[in-house]
Amino acid sequence: MYLKTLTIFAWLGLSYVGLVFFAHSWYVALPLAISLGLAMAGVGFSIQHDGGHNAYSERRLVNRASSWALDMLGGSSYFWHYKHNIAHHTYPNISGADDDLVVGWIGRLSPHDRSHGFHRFQQFYLWFLYSLLPIRWALIDDFHSMIDPGIGQTKVPRPRGWDQVRFWAGKAFFIGGAFVLPLLFHKVGEVALWYLVTMMVLGVVLATVFQLAHCVEEATFPLPNEAGKMDHDWATHQVLTTVDFSRGNGLVTWYVGGLNYQIEHHLFPHICHVHYPKIAEIVEAAARKHGIPYHCNSTWGALRSHYRWLRRMGRPATAATQPATA
Ligand SMILES: [Zn+2]
Repeated sequence: MYLKTLTIFAWLGLSYVGLVFFAHSWYVALPLAISLGLAMAGVGFSIQHDGGHNAYSERRLVNRASSWALDMLGGSSYFWHYKHNIAHHTYPNISGADDDLVVGWIGRLSPHDRSHGFHRFQQFYLWFLYSLLPIRWALIDDFHSMIDPGIGQTKVPRPRGWDQVRFWAGKAFFIGGAFVLPLLFHKVGEVALWYLVTMMVLGVVLATVFQLAHCVEEATFPLPNEAGKMDHDWATHQVLTTVDFSRGNGLVTWYVGGLNYQIEHHLFPHICHVHYPKIAEIVEAAARKHGIPYHCNSTWGALRSHYRWLRRMGRPATAATQPATA
């Protein structure tokens, strides 16, 4: 993990330095901006995500420091903790509770969400929305959360003390790195363009990797029963609502920080992602033994399945056809 962390930060640093100090033409800037976006996503997948789950290390400070990488890259680690660790990990694919299903009126990811006529085109345009997510997250959503904390049905206390300091220090660091420093060497239009390209690459890659695990045809979207309880126990729910992809592909596993083993991640979020390939064999055997559907796609198969799921959710007639279990 230490070597991996060093490699990814070196990738990030070289891409940034190259883009800000050495890119004087678009054909040099474009690959560097793409590389920077991919490296930022890599930090999120492999370093910050593990740290945020206390899974990076047995040392608390190492976990906390790696989770702060998010603050440096523009997003608040404080609000992410409530959005991801609590709202998403406790209630995956439960409409109204899992904030990852909320994309606003513009898209429909769950069969229990309201449908609009224009959703029939969402399998084409939602990718563009994914690309804008980090910009909205860093420059709008976090500030909105600061004014009005609360994510779906999850209560969020307003940050205090060091959490406040880290929030504002992170925003200042990010704005300094993304805008102030580049503006000393480049025109406003150039800085805006390469900021946009970098963030869009980051957004598409981040959102897609998470969507391939939950918003696909093989996953279910159960709701609580009349008593307000789920029909399945917690662990079964995690397996039913989550799908692995590209298991056994070392390069994918390395880059997405084990998020292609998302079933294992949801069952054991406190275990470092480097162990997921071994754990997966045990989890799959246990799921089969107990008759719980366990799904794994190829990367291409997962992308197609996400596309088909978006297309299906864009058609109102299919609203109630998703079974509670599949
Ligand atoms: Zn997670």
